[in-house]
Order: sequence, then structure tokens, then C-alpha cells
Amino acid sequence: ATMPPLLSAIANAGRHGVLVKSAVVMERLGQIDAVALDKTGTLTEGTPRVTDIRPLTGSGLTENALLTLAAAAEHPSEHPLARAVVDAARGRDLSLPPAEAFTSVPGVGVTATIGGRKVSVGAPARLTGAEDDGSSPALAVVQGLEDEGRTAVAVLRDGTPVGVLGIADRLRPDAATTVAALGELTGTTPMLVTGDNSRAAARLAEEIGITGVHAGLLPQDKVTTVRQQEQAGRKVLVVGDGINDAPALAAAHTGIAMGRAGSDLALETADAVVVRDELAAIPTVVALSRNARRLVV
Ligand code: ADP
Ligand code: MG
Repeated sequence: ATMPPLLSAIANAGRHGVLVKSAVVMERLGQIDAVALDKTGTLTEGTPRVTDIRPLTGSGLTENALLTLAAAAEHPSEHPLARAVVDAARGRDLSLPPAEAFTSVPGVGVTATIGGRKVSVGAPARLTGAEDDGSSPALAVVQGLEDEGRTAVAVLRDGTPVGVLGIADRLRPDAATTVAALGELTGTTPMLVTGDNSRAAARLAEEIGITGVHAGLLPQDKVTTVRQQEQAGRKVLVVGDGINDAPALAAAHTGIAMGRAGSDLALETADAVVVRDELAAIPTVVALSRNARRLVV
């Protein structure tokens, strides 16, 4: 027997390294007419590295002491930024004290008790409100790093900023061509939806031909962005990798997760998974879906 077109398309998508979870999903992929792409781990490789370690004056911390505190608090987290911080500490042979009472807030950061003191690591503006009052000593350091395209992460001890880490990630080699191909298929340039700061987001967007930048978003804000598009009559494809992307992946017409570094929750929530980590496979499967639908109808 000949395979029904949608099933052949699923097999074909598999050959391109994309796991499409059902025939319904295979069909929906061809209907999308807008795309929202996450930044960290989706357009970038998701293996960020610590590039700058800046203890604040008055903290009394050395670079290594700051990195030790941050890495101890990040150790239980599966966030790519957390892995960067822990790897940097390992690279300097620092031994990490145990973390107690660990908690994490998607899109914000982590908090843990290290040696009896409360340590928080995460988005500077969310942890300290620095962007609002402008008086934080960390602010100049944060903005300097962000202007260089880095993600700046603040470290707080007992509620007081003690240092800032600069973290940088490489753009995926096929990011720009994928953005262009999806733009051609849908007739609209994909949007960037990210929890990261607007300076770093704008810099990356410009590099890959994206004009619509939505930065500083909490997981629920990504959902709102998707819903606004859908209210305007669009069927949105969301591509993401993190726990923070799961609500948007669920709200989207179709959600695709990046598989290699993707969080379990994103992989479970998404309708399809890019197993081999090639972004360029996404426009390919959209086109496969459209061809299959032509055969079905
Ligand atoms: P993106 O949407 O680009 O994938 P996220 O929503 O995962 O980014 O994170 C947004 C921001 O929240 C990060 O840029 C960082 O400032 C902060 N953040 C979230 N989790 C962590 C963490 N574990 N360690 C440090 N910072 C974090
Ligand atoms: Mg991400």
C-alpha cells in the first residue's frame, strides 16, 4: 500500500532530524503564517560561556569568591546560563559548597542558601529593580556588558548586589538563513521573543535580519505575545528550548522544541522536536507539510 501523504511527510521530517508527534501536527505545520523564535538555546547554540567576572567594589569578594558563590547557587539548575556559571567554576578548579533551600523562577533566576547566607543569581532588573531607580552600583557594570551583547547576570548576597557576571553565547550558523526561509514561507519576518535584556536582543536581531524584538519577557509574557498574534488572525509557530518557553509552546498553533539542549518540559509540551539541532530543518518541515496537504486536499 502507498503511505498516506501526511505519514510519508512525518517519515521525511524524521530524515531531516525533526520528530513530528502526530499526523495532526504534520498538517498544522503547513498552516502557520507567523513565527516567534526564542533567543537563548534556540537562535544561539545554548552553550553560553562566562566571559566576565566583576565583583562590585565594597563586596570584599575576589573573582574566584564571586564565581564560587554564584556557581554553588546555580549548581542544581538546568538553565544554560547556570551550566555556564558552573562550568566556569570547574574551569578554575573551584570547589563548590552545597546549596540548601534551592528555588528557581523561570525567566528570573535562582536562589539558594550557601554557607548560611541567601544567594540569588539572575536577571539584574528583576532581582534588584536596578533599571528603575538607576542608583544601583551594579547598573553601570550591567549596561556596559549588555552593550557588548552579553547577558549580564547579577549576584546578590542577603539581598545586596555583590557582583555581575557577563555571559555570551554563539549564534547558530544557520540562524540567519532559517529566519529568511521562514519569512519567505509565511510572508512575515519572524519575531524574537526572549527573556533576555533588550540591548543584547536587539544586537542579535539585527545580525540575523529580525525587526520585531520582544525582550525582557517572562514566560507568561511570551504567551501574551502569541495570543496577540492569534487574535490578529495569525497562526503562530513558536520555537523554543527552555522551561520558560513551555507555556508559549502550548499556546501556539504549533510549538517546536530544540532537542539537544532543550529542557524536558519543552520537549514534552512541544508538538515537534528538532532532534539534530539544525534550525534549517524547520522551514524544510513546514514546506513538507504544505506539499503533503496539497496531496490530501
Ligand atoms: P530566553 O528567553 O532568552 O531563553 P530565559 O527566559 O531563560 O531566556 O531567561 C531570561 C533571563 O532570566 C536571562 O537572560 C537571565 O538574566 C535570567 N535567568 C533565568 N534563569 C537564570 C539562571 N538559572 N541563572 C541566571 N540567570 C537566569
Ligand atoms: Mg531559551
